Amino acid sequence: MPDISTSLGIIGYPISHSISPIFQQAGINHNNFNETYKSYEVHPDQLKDFMLRVRKTKMIGLNVTVPHKTSVISYLDDVDEWAVRAGAVNTIVRNGDVLKGYNTDGFGFMEGLYRNTNVSIDSINVLILGAGGSARAVLLSLMDAGAKSICIANRTLSKAELLKTECENNVTAVDVVATEDPKFVSYVENAGLIINCTTIGMKNTEGKLPFTSENIREDTILYDLVYNPLRTLMLNEGEKVNCTRIGGIDMLVYQGVKSFELWFESKAPVEIMLRAAKSVVL
Ligand code: NAP
Repeated sequence: MPDISTSLGIIGYPISHSISPIFQQAGINHNNFNETYKSYEVHPDQLKDFMLRVRKTKMIGLNVTVPHKTSVISYLDDVDEWAVRAGAVNTIVRNGDVLKGYNTDGFGFMEGLYRNTNVSIDSINVLILGAGGSARAVLLSLMDAGAKSICIANRTLSKAELLKTECENNVTAVDVVATEDPKFVSYVENAGLIINCTTIGMKNTEGKLPFTSENIREDTILYDLVYNPLRTLMLNEGEKVNCTRIGGIDMLVYQGVKSFELWFESKAPVEIMLRAAKSVVL
């Protein structure tokens, strides 16, 4: 079990790949805060003990990543409403003896979208590829933003169906399709925004993109949550038709920006944090 030696950090398992310490520390240093942020590798079996130890320290807060985003909720005193809907916490803030959980992934996703495009979510068809934890945060954010129509496409159809059932509202028409279904390609061709919420294209990970540049319209926006490498399989396909492309590094940094602002209750130096993150991802 790692010793707690900093006032901020990120927990996950494994955690060596995380670049949060790089861009969070860059932001902390830029703002002249006398705090340190580091990663803590916490095995699922150690989570309870680690969180008990956090209570005994003066830690300001934590980021939480895979596989603890849901299980950590049992060790918190309070959970923000949006994190309850997302069923996951990625940020913990201490206030006295109270540990409160938040989820800033949805904010990070929308900020990445709005800072890079002028898209009107209520007038396009959205295609979400994937039905895991990040797809859920993306789906909820887009529904909150008033999306007109969203299709969830996944390798395992039952997971897409479950996600749809759990998140449905009265505003957004949600459809589901299996990526191997011949109908899937028509969803790609009709989408104004396609978001990859799968691990396809991630470094050292297997998986084939279920469509090619031939299916992508020039006016479609491609948004890949994968950020390592910066040029992913999906973004490479988009480059061939020169459509608008957004990489996952933006979402990663903006979710961290929101965490930073929850901890310090002051503006985060966004550009400094973005530059620090991009400098370490090839
Ligand atoms: P997750 O909950 O484990 O979901 C994984 C998804 O990927 C599932 O839909 C799964 O399909 C699909 N998948 C996995 N391997 C596949 C393959 N070989 N072929 C087709 N589909 C496959 O993961 P997550 O937490 O949502 O994360 C997904 C990706 O988003 C990761 O690359 C992660 O790094 C990235 N992410 C980025 C940010 C950011 O800030 N940029 C934030 C969160 C996540 P099945 O249901 O069929 O298994």
